[in-house]
Amino acid sequence: MDNLAQLGAAIAAPPFYLPQGKECELFELAWRQRLPLLLKGPTGCGKTRFVAHMAARLGLPLQTVACHDDLTAADLTGRYLLKGGETVWVDGPLTHAVRVGGICYLDEVVEARKDVTVVLHPLTDDRRLLPLERTGEILEAPPEFMLVVSYNPGYQNILKSLKPSTRQRFVAIELDFPRPELELRVVAAESGLDPERVRPLINLASRVRSLKGLDLEEACSTRLLVYAASLMQAGFDPVLAIEHAIIEPLSDDADVKAGLRELVRASI
Ligand code: ADP
Repeated sequence: MDNLAQLGAAIAAPPFYLPQGKECELFELAWRQRLPLLLKGPTGCGKTRFVAHMAARLGLPLQTVACHDDLTAADLTGRYLLKGGETVWVDGPLTHAVRVGGICYLDEVVEARKDVTVVLHPLTDDRRLLPLERTGEILEAPPEFMLVVSYNPGYQNILKSLKPSTRQRFVAIELDFPRPELELRVVAAESGLDPERVRPLINLASRVRSLKGLDLEEACSTRLLVYAASLMQAGFDPVLAIEHAIIEPLSDDADVKAGLRELVRASI
């Protein structure tokens, strides 16, 4: 990055994040105290945005990794690759964050293969070490480095849960969808839609979330509300915006979708 670009990045405002409580203070304290952080909460409630906001606020580079069931420790630490006939070591995102002193955010960490926890353990106690078996290096994390992981407790099953011995290495914050008055501000700010036109979406979300009978795998997220509001702000019909940004993404089941449409009629 040249100097001008660095200056631009440094003065760019952090991405918008409206706190639900004291999470920003807690994040900063955890970073200063060199403690790893665990974020729990449903999909689309603002975890990724929160981390991006805090990284920018603290002026730290951020590596975000969306974990999946094929993700191995080597994907995080790095591997030897063939480049122009030579094998060269290429740092993975975790190693990079340790080397430069930034934040490494592992989203949905429970999805990753079990060998990932082996790499995380020495990094999450007071040693703060990252052993790179392949190169024989042992990296000591600088004070600026922070490990942040997240998972969605709603997805948990016996096979995919964070072991207590791993969980107990983190300071933890539980996030949920923002309270209605906060969520209204978030959706209005993100979409540019007038708050009075956002309100029916918030009412609809409360109704959908409080329904226990509907067989939904996931709750209606803040993200989906932002999508619906953005379509409305662009001039799309509200009922159609809700259909395509909320109902269709939430379910494939015709009966469930019919139930959701009834709630829409009652809410807007
Ligand atoms: P998660 O990582 O929990 O799945 P995201 O961080 O991607 O969710 O959030 C989804 C979207 O919801 C964001 O892109 C943002 O538009 C909005 N959002 C949710 N909560 C907030 C908040 N507190 N402040 C600002 N935007 C938010």
